[in-house]
Amino acid sequence: MKNFDLKEVLRPHILELKPYSSARDEFSGSEGIFLDANENPYHSVNKEYYNRYPDPYQWKVKEKISRIKNVPKENIFLGNGSDEPIDLIIRAFCRPAVDNIIIMPPTYGMYEVSASINDVEIRKVNLSPSFQIVKNKVLEAVDEYTKLIFVCSPNNPSGNLLAQNDIVGLLESFRGVVVLDEAYIDFCPDATLLSRLKEFPNLIILQTFSKAWGMAALRLGMAFASEEIVKILNKIKPPYNINALTQEKALEMLDHENEKDRIVEELIGEKEWLSSALEQLDLVEKVHLSDANFVLVKVNKDAKAVYEDLVKQGIIVRDRSKVVLCEGCLRISIGTSVENKELINKLKLIDKGI
Ligand SMILES: *Cc1c(COP(=O)(O)O)cnc(C)c1O
Repeated sequence: MKNFDLKEVLRPHILELKPYSSARDEFSGSEGIFLDANENPYHSVNKEYYNRYPDPYQWKVKEKISRIKNVPKENIFLGNGSDEPIDLIIRAFCRPAVDNIIIMPPTYGMYEVSASINDVEIRKVNLSPSFQIVKNKVLEAVDEYTKLIFVCSPNNPSGNLLAQNDIVGLLESFRGVVVLDEAYIDFCPDATLLSRLKEFPNLIILQTFSKAWGMAALRLGMAFASEEIVKILNKIKPPYNINALTQEKALEMLDHENEKDRIVEELIGEKEWLSSALEQLDLVEKVHLSDANFVLVKVNKDAKAVYEDLVKQGIIVRDRSKVVLCEGCLRISIGTSVENKELINKLKLIDKGI
C-alpha cells in the first residue's frame, strides 16, 4: 500500500496559512464579562438571545454526532450543507489551473461546479453501464496533478451503491485523497465505510442531515476524516460557518434518531411499492435498483415529454434524460404514500396517451 503524505497532496500555501483568529478562538471559556467580539451586550432586537457569536467548532453538536456515528469528535467537520466541505476540500488540495480531480459520471453535479468555480480541471471517467466504478480506467486517468477522486455511493442519480472493493481499491492505489459522498447512506447504513476511517488516512467521507434526518433547510453537512485533514478544513472555513439556530435545532433533532430510523423504514417500504407499481406501467422500460430514497426510471417514451406532462398535472420529478448513461431516464424522489399513488395515477393517464 502506498504511503499517504498529506503535506505532499495539500496546496503548499494552505499548509503555511495562518488562519483568522476569532474572539472565540482566543478565549473559549463560557464565564466572564465578554467585551471581546463587539457584540450587542443586551439581547437581539426581538428580546431573544442571538446577540452572541456561535461556537465556531460546534462542539456540542459534534459530541452528539460522535455518539450517533461512533466517531471521535476530532474526526468530524461540520459544514453549511455538504456542499461547503466539497468546496473547501477542492480549495485545500487543488491549485487552480494546475491540479485536477476525477469524477465518475453520471454523478452529483456539485463536484464539477465547485471545481469549475475554482478553475480546477475535471477528468471524467464514466461509470460502467451498470453504474459501477471502472477502476482501471480511473487509475489510468490519474497523473501527478490528480489530487482528488470523488466517489458517490449510493450514487446520485443512479441510486445504487458502488462496490466497496472498488472504493477500497482506489483508496489503496491512489496517493491523493478519495472523497466518498455518502449522502444517502442512512437508507443503507450497513454499507458505510465510516468504521474503516482509521485504516485510510486519504479518505474523507461526506454525510448530510438533509435527506433521511429531514433537516435540508437547516443546512448541516458532515465530513469525517483524519484529525490532520479536519484541522486543515477548520483552518480554511469561514469562522462561524454553522449559525446558532442551526446548532440549536440540530441538537434538538439529534435526540430523535428513532424517528429517523422509522422514516427510513417507511420510505424503503414506499420505494418497494412505487418500484413495482412503476414496473407495471407500459411506459416504463426499467426501474433501476436503488439503495437510496429515489429511483431512476427509464421510460420508453420521450422522457422530456413525460416530465412536462407530469408538471402540467402538478407533479415535479427530475428529468435526467440528457445525462450520460441516463438516456430516457427520470429521477423520482420517494414521496409519501399519497404522493406516490398520485404519481402512479397520473402516469397511468399518460400511459393511455392523455
Ligand atoms: C443531496 C446531496 C448532498 C447533500 O447536500 P447538502 O448540501 O448537505 O444538502 C450531497 N451529495 C449528494 C450526492 C446529494 O445528492
